[in-house]
Amino acid sequence: MAVVGVLALQGSFNEHIAVLRRLGVKGVEIRKPEQLLTINPLIIPGGESTTMAKLAQYFNLFPALREFVQMGKPVWGTCAGLIFLADKATGQKTGGQELVGGLDCTVHRNFFGSQIQSFETELAVPELVSKEGGPETFRGVFIRAPAILDVGPEVQVLADYPVPSDKKLSSDSSVEDKKENADEKSKVIVAVRQGNILATAFHPELTADTRWHSYFLKMGNVTGEEASSSVVPAEVS
Ligand code: GLN
Repeated sequence: MAVVGVLALQGSFNEHIAVLRRLGVKGVEIRKPEQLLTINPLIIPGGESTTMAKLAQYFNLFPALREFVQMGKPVWGTCAGLIFLADKATGQKTGGQELVGGLDCTVHRNFFGSQIQSFETELAVPELVSKEGGPETFRGVFIRAPAILDVGPEVQVLADYPVPSDKKLSSDSSVEDKKENADEKSKVIVAVRQGNILATAFHPELTADTRWHSYFLKMGNVTGEEASSSVVPAEVS
């Protein structure tokens, strides 16, 4: 059975593994640097990026994760995983947290606000639909979600989202946040691809729609035992 690594320090790694299983692929929990030498490709799940960064430091994973990305091995970061992969992160309480980097973008860690401002929405993702077929939109689950504020020339924007008109920066946002949002963007970026790096600000593993996972498996030349993606009931715990 084909295998995919899933960084299993914290967050929704079990949910990713459940989706991979539905696609006929084995998700392997990754916690040690040496595991990254043999695994390919890798998913970095959502969760809480500062906690995940502290655990990654504790297990000495950052050098191996950077090497993994720099070697051009396929990697997909969802939500906190996206923050990990960004070259630059801003947003309150960032506090110089360590990043893996490699994705030429600036991400705002908590752009859409706190837990109670989490939301779901239908996203237009033409690239996903052209490769995977299925419904015209994808259900984006945004939980304390980040957003990408700007990207470099090599980055392909896969989905964006209009900034809510009532969106205001919270009072404890840093001066840097205010400066970076001063141009009052009408849209922010929520899904990108840069070569072998895929990143989504939302959580496809919490939906019944397996198209993002299927898309990523194709990036990694991984073939599951089932032929194609599908929309079936999720095994979300
Ligand atoms: N904004 C969160 C963070 O900073 C990420 C939230 C998520 O992964 N659902 O880690």
